[in-house]
Amino acid sequence: MFIVGITGGIGSGKSAVTGLLEQQGINVVDADIVAREVVEPGTPALKEIEMHFGASIINQLGGLDRQKLRAIVFDNLQERKWLEALLHPLIREEILLQLSQSNSPYTVLASPLLLETDQHELVDKIVVVDVAEQVQIQRTMQRDNNSSDQVKAIIAAQKSRQERIQSAHYIINNDADLKTLQEKVLNLHQQLLLNAKE
Ligand code: ATP
Repeated sequence: MFIVGITGGIGSGKSAVTGLLEQQGINVVDADIVAREVVEPGTPALKEIEMHFGASIINQLGGLDRQKLRAIVFDNLQERKWLEALLHPLIREEILLQLSQSNSPYTVLASPLLLETDQHELVDKIVVVDVAEQVQIQRTMQRDNNSSDQVKAIIAAQKSRQERIQSAHYIINNDADLKTLQEKVLNLHQQLLLNAKE
């Protein structure tokens, strides 16, 4: 099985790219979705998180209060490490399961933390979606209704553009419009189909 990892900073356009590839019949495993699935109500991981952080981490619907959890771990390295040690192996296991169920010519693993975690070991090629920081801030603010300072803080906590690009086999620059992105993604798709056959 040929696996293509797609990563990029916040608001770079990962979902836009994977959406286009899905239209070409490619299966996409989304690490963000998996990360939510492993802490759904009734999961052992959610129970552990509740025991560690207290019942106030659970919202009225019985689910994880993600915003509260993010606020706790954002500037607390020790708590972040605890949470990562719990979740990363579970997320990896579930990603492996979902990848193994794919039957498209190649399969995409989309993950904002592809390079930061051992998830990059699961992929044959790495695609980085790259945008100028100004564009990234603009699009993220528009999408999430965030302030520029909030977006800048998230960008500062992520890997730099330079670091990401160094790990890339393919770079998709997404500074231009969606039509341009579509052309680039279709080209990439042809390339990846060839790679998958090699
Ligand atoms: P995150 O890591 O935060 O989930 P992402 O990398 O998946 O983000 P997207 O959600 O795909 O990024 O894109 C961010 C926003 O920018 C979205 O609202 C999307 O519709 C928009 N967008 C993406 N690419 C373009 C483009 N080329 N032109 C205009 N808007 C775009």
